[in-house]
Amino acid sequence: MNKITKVPDKKEAPVLGIDLGGTKILASVVDPTGKIIARSKKKTKAEKPWRVVISRIAECAKDAAEISNIPLADFAAAGIGAPGALNPDTGIINLAPNLNWENVNLREILEQELQIPVFINNDVNMGTLGECRMGSGVGMKNVVGIFIGTGIGGGIILDGKIYGGASYMAGEIGHIPMVDNGPLCGCGKKGCFEAVAGRLAIVRDIIEGLKKGKESILSDEVGENYSKIKSRRLALAWNKRDPLTVKVLKKAAVYIGKGVATVITILSPDAVILGGGLIEAIDEDFLELIKKSAEANSFPSSLRNTKIIRALLGDDAGILGSALYARECLSKK
Ligand SMILES: [Zn+2]
Repeated sequence: MNKITKVPDKKEAPVLGIDLGGTKILASVVDPTGKIIARSKKKTKAEKPWRVVISRIAECAKDAAEISNIPLADFAAAGIGAPGALNPDTGIINLAPNLNWENVNLREILEQELQIPVFINNDVNMGTLGECRMGSGVGMKNVVGIFIGTGIGGGIILDGKIYGGASYMAGEIGHIPMVDNGPLCGCGKKGCFEAVAGRLAIVRDIIEGLKKGKESILSDEVGENYSKIKSRRLALAWNKRDPLTVKVLKKAAVYIGKGVATVITILSPDAVILGGGLIEAIDEDFLELIKKSAEANSFPSSLRNTKIIRALLGDDAGILGSALYARECLSKK
């Protein structure tokens, strides 16, 4: 008699949710109710060849599965949020500058390594989906996520689904033109939103102030080791009303508000969710400044039904969003 292998019911099976970042890989096991039951973490080591990095992703996913005590073969699928320009249909990462990847078929290779279906999408889209389904956007169908990190990332959920547009590049909010002939952006253009309000831009302006001898607790804390000025430290300095930090962040809040206003004017979503390390650690007054700027720069009635709220899930947004995305792609198959 042939041995019959039990095929796990896809609806009842757990999924893997993975977030691939330039510095770290996060993997999680998510049960059918959306609860994270195991997690693991690995350094990306983006300086290594892409094959090595993909093996590290697979190892990280296998570690999470092992912690949950569930054999890999019993998983329904894996979802992975990856940085850069990618195509969710082909599973290919076209260009990811912070990984040094060009035309890498992430999905195919990861499927070979894990032997389960893999679904990929942009990391910020996954984070926005996570917040929309399980974070501050629960119950909403149209949501835009703006994440202030090193740069500024954006994700759009329309009618409950990730909106990629014609090129899968929709939602690259960080590159909205903000200031004429402004500071140079990583994309090569001048004056983009992230070049005036991303963390690197904020730190650049703070360093400029410190070099001019402006008074700041940051100079006591970091001296001339400016690389120590990270999101959390900035948020704490703001919360203590450090004069230089307040001056620079007030300017950034006005730009962030303009970015929010642009999004609201075009899409009129149920909510704009603001996330990222700086936003998560900073006090309510900063959010109020953003809201004021958004109001001042929006067509009044378009603002009426849109909430401007803070993200709730931190790093879990990406892994939960990836897991939910995998489950939803699977149910469409
Ligand atoms: Zn740019």
